[in-house]
Amino acid sequence: MSNYLFAPPEVHSLPVRGEARRFPVRRIYCVGRNYTDHIVEMGGDVRELPFFFQKPADALVPDGATIPYPPFTEDFQYEVELVLAIGSTPADSSETSARAAVCAFGVGIDLTRRDVQIAARKAGRPWEIGKSFDRSAPCSELIAVTSTELPDAGAIELKVDGVTKQSGDILQMIWKPLEIVAKLSEQYELKAGDLIYTGTPAGVGALAPGSKVTAAFGDLCQVSISIA
Ligand code: MN
Repeated sequence: MSNYLFAPPEVHSLPVRGEARRFPVRRIYCVGRNYTDHIVEMGGDVRELPFFFQKPADALVPDGATIPYPPFTEDFQYEVELVLAIGSTPADSSETSARAAVCAFGVGIDLTRRDVQIAARKAGRPWEIGKSFDRSAPCSELIAVTSTELPDAGAIELKVDGVTKQSGDILQMIWKPLEIVAKLSEQYELKAGDLIYTGTPAGVGALAPGSKVTAAFGDLCQVSISIA
């Protein structure tokens, strides 16, 4: 007899390159503002500190998936982002401990219902409806950094139907990967299985049914999705 009333929710996970075992996902954190050119295109103030929000772990979408155009939006947008994967709880909020806690990276897409996000922002309401919806977090396979360097530079790019829409470099991040982990660990107890989407460069825009989207971090990793 099971201890549960019904089957527990499945564990969502990502493949790790060269590793038979998968990375089980606990939480998905996202940085709200981290590239000056994207803050400017959204009409924000670049002097504001970046902030964090979450997506549910079951919003994860694997490489190659086809997802339906989501309900409750007429402005469904893409944001390409470097994704950090946490392999252990940082000992403290230093960057040294942050580095020890990051076990892998990938590239993801922070899918956004921009119209309802902006309406919520104007009304002073939470962002969940615009950011934390079903199937809003595509992510590539992960690349382990236990024995290699965590990249601090590299092209980050997104194409829709083969046309380049976003083209940046993670060098442009206002808060660098280890600073993000250090800051976030002051607010939450990070644990193995957490993912952190680190913000997007300029060029965000709308998707439509039939769109094919490919996001890439250099030639290291990429994730492709189709919108049904
Ligand atoms: Mn984002």
